[in-house]
Amino acid sequence: MHVVIVGGGIAGTAAALALDKAGFSVSVHEAHADSGADIGAFLTLADNGMRALREIGVVPQAGFPLTALRLTGSSGEELAVSALGGAYRCVRRAELCELLQAEVRSRGLRIEHGARFVSAEQDGDRVVARFADGREAAGDLLIGADGLNSAVRALLDPVPKRYAGQQVFYGYSDRAEPPHEPEHIEMVRGSGSSFGYAVSPEGRTYWFARLAAPPLDGAETAAAMRTRLLAALRPDATPTADIVAATDDVLVTNAHDLVPTPRWRSGRVLLIGDAAHAASPATGQGASMAFEDAVVLAKSLRDNLGLDGYERLRRPRVERNIVRSAQLTAALAPDHVERGDEVERLRLRHGDVPAEDDPLGLLDWDAELPS
Ligand SMILES: Cc1cc2nc3c(=O)[nH]c(=O)nc-3n(C[C@H](O)[C@H](O)[C@H](O)COP(=O)(O)OP(=O)(O)OC[C@H]3O[C@@H](n4cnc5c(N)ncnc54)[C@H](O)[C@@H]3O)c2cc1C
Repeated sequence: MHVVIVGGGIAGTAAALALDKAGFSVSVHEAHADSGADIGAFLTLADNGMRALREIGVVPQAGFPLTALRLTGSSGEELAVSALGGAYRCVRRAELCELLQAEVRSRGLRIEHGARFVSAEQDGDRVVARFADGREAAGDLLIGADGLNSAVRALLDPVPKRYAGQQVFYGYSDRAEPPHEPEHIEMVRGSGSSFGYAVSPEGRTYWFARLAAPPLDGAETAAAMRTRLLAALRPDATPTADIVAATDDVLVTNAHDLVPTPRWRSGRVLLIGDAAHAASPATGQGASMAFEDAVVLAKSLRDNLGLDGYERLRRPRVERNIVRSAQLTAALAPDHVERGDEVERLRLRHGDVPAEDDPLGLLDWDAELPS
């Protein structure tokens, strides 16, 4: 069986590694001309995601470990400290993608760059993906791992993304010297923001801020956005405003998710990762969920459960994450949330899903999946 994977980001490369480990032939087709790296967001990889990666033979050395989380309030008071447990990591998405793509290549698997998917045709037991430059790729299965704005999803079920109510700012600073403990992620519950930062062993501060606001309209200049962020942070007796002031490039994006969630499959086409179940960033689980997808998909095909089995095992867990993240976001941004009733409908559907990471042992590579 040959699997054509559209998207060589986080979900696509991980799926390639997992499917290869399960004995399937794969090729990856990525739109970016070179690495597929983005403008520079960073991720916290949670223990469950790290575990899924280990199951497919990847131990990421990029970034740095996180072992504890400290929460402080807007007056700088410590509210809580908790051990993260397991293997958390803070890593730039671009570094993670490069590492995963290098692993794909080192296993002799094919990645084609500059391949922007535009359409697919299913004919009997084959599916053919077509790319903007005229290239084609044929296989038995097509996986759409092309992210939040998936072109594959547009063919299957063009569910529009939903604005979750917050703008997300982030950046890196080599000049900021905020108070911190090594390997801690410092979360600051500000009066007008939700802020997080971690300082790498080299002294670089990685930070993000989430602000309740209407979606970005494209008209505001970068300088105006930075000023607006600083105005939200300055009233607090915390290091957050100084961190932003010591940052040269401040990046910003909208927090989006997919509610309602789309249909995941049609015949020989399947969506995974953000293309299928993008959550807003509050739970910090998007990449980890993509790694879990990769393991469970490969095992579902290996153990002859097919795409039906894969969806049955994955949908409740990822939709629960979408709901949790949407709720966390909405608690801070009730005025700007769109379509909150649809989040509530999704919550009711998955109210009984266990909170533990892997109660059924689905991620254990050697364990057969329940039929
Ligand atoms: C601000 C922010 C902070 C976040 N923080 C965290 C965090 O702390 N922890 C966490 O786990 N997650 C976090 N996430 C979520 C995480 O980034 C995503 O869940 C994850 O990147 C999803 O991986 P993916 O491979 O499905 O999609 P993507 O990473 O978006 O990759 C999709 C790939 O498909 C390619 N592509 C797109 N269109 C086409 C096409 N037509 N043809 C071919 N290729 C195409 C793209 O170039 C890209 O390489 C955050 C997201 C945001 C926006």
